[in-house]
Amino acid sequence: MINEGLKQLSAALAARRISSEELAREYLARIDQLNPQINAFITVNPDATMQEAKTADAMLAAGTAGPLTGIPLAHKDIFCMDGWRTTCASRMLENFVAPYDAHVVGLCRQAGMVCLGKTNMDEFAMGSSNETSWFGPVRNPWDMQAVPGGSSGGSAAAVAARLAPVATGTDTGGSIRQPAAMTGITGLKPTYGVVSRYGMIAFASSLDQAGPMARSAEDCAMLMNAMAGFDARDSTSLEREREDYTRDLGQPLAGLRIGLPKEFFAAGLSGDVARAVDEALAEYRRLGAVTVEVSLPSSALSIPVYYVLAPAEASANLSRFDGVRYGHRAAEYGDLTDMYQKTRAEGFGAEVKRRIMIGTYVLSHGYYDAYYIKAQKIRRLIAEDFAKAFAECDVIMGPTAPETAFDLGAKNSDPVAMYLSDIYTIAVNLAGLPGMSIPCGFDSRQRPVGLQLIGNYFGEARLLGIAHQYQLATDWHQRVPAAVA
Ligand code: GLN
Repeated sequence: MINEGLKQLSAALAARRISSEELAREYLARIDQLNPQINAFITVNPDATMQEAKTADAMLAAGTAGPLTGIPLAHKDIFCMDGWRTTCASRMLENFVAPYDAHVVGLCRQAGMVCLGKTNMDEFAMGSSNETSWFGPVRNPWDMQAVPGGSSGGSAAAVAARLAPVATGTDTGGSIRQPAAMTGITGLKPTYGVVSRYGMIAFASSLDQAGPMARSAEDCAMLMNAMAGFDARDSTSLEREREDYTRDLGQPLAGLRIGLPKEFFAAGLSGDVARAVDEALAEYRRLGAVTVEVSLPSSALSIPVYYVLAPAEASANLSRFDGVRYGHRAAEYGDLTDMYQKTRAEGFGAEVKRRIMIGTYVLSHGYYDAYYIKAQKIRRLIAEDFAKAFAECDVIMGPTAPETAFDLGAKNSDPVAMYLSDIYTIAVNLAGLPGMSIPCGFDSRQRPVGLQLIGNYFGEARLLGIAHQYQLATDWHQRVPAAVA
């Protein structure tokens, strides 16, 4: 059943053609077989998984099942899960067992979904290649020499390698969309505030947003139905009516106006990516859409703005890891200050330390106005660019990332080169808009290319529909990496 979508799995479970236990066992066996090579999972807990599957089978037997009951999924290891080790891929939390469920985890549990394990990621979600993980890099199932992207690289690789039908991810500057693009899967970063951040370990709170990662837009829509919803425990959670994210899947594209930001098709874009994106746009025109040029002039500043604001917020959020309350504490130390210093020096990796230092610097007296306040002002301009663009079009499209998956180690010594991976995704987080990546082809080395779709606020159902229509007409999303077929 590993190539079936959620709709087929749901039907098979409802008709009792397969049990949740059988399904979980099939996936756990694949994880056993392939994870030593791919390293997509940090933690598996087969006993807990099988217990959840048993509960799901009981719900199915009792007639209390919903559409997702019995379906396995993987959670990014940034989500707290009661009784499960939750590390955020950091030595700081290497042995931390969460005492409660994140809102997203609780919702998936309530829906009767079965957790297969916690997926690898960049440490505290800081990175674009999954190489900053304390638990080692993740390999891209399409080419084991390539990175899977990051920070949700474990979730992306797990879905691409059929180690899980769907997974959760989080996206602060591109961490759902960029790894989705690099592994040939589909991922959605919802409008800021649609999915609760409660129990999701905080990186940059004004940007962090969780979303679904799956093989298809249809599967993303079904998982989104479980993940979204108001939660009073997150002060930025939006109180809105429940939506059915599958409702626009069947909507035709005739007359759809696609905006192409001229800044996304300029220097820095690889030829292979440009070609695949152009072909995808041609397919959209065949489906009845029209393309118009739009401009996002301030988006050129999105990387510098993000690397002021995200580290500023991270430096505040990560101050809680002090060796006192939970997590790592140095074994030997002198006084209290020495304990803090040794604990944090040992517990955090180099990229996390770099962000804490930048963040502390831009928030310090004397630099706050010059950097932090200035960046906030430009953030507003970036959001206004999108508002103007959406007066001209219904959806914005372009590449998800400037290039396909790069080799392991290729950008490790150059943080700025690594940061440029998110050049097309970060502005979306700064504006709080929904964005998706869908597979649209391969480069000359058979590494996947992603097409980015950006919607207006609360446009995720429509985005999913626009992606689904493309996936009905193409089969990029159904390709299976040869190494895991
Ligand atoms: N690559 C970006 C960073 O390192 C974005 C990460 C993310 O979205 N979590 O900050």
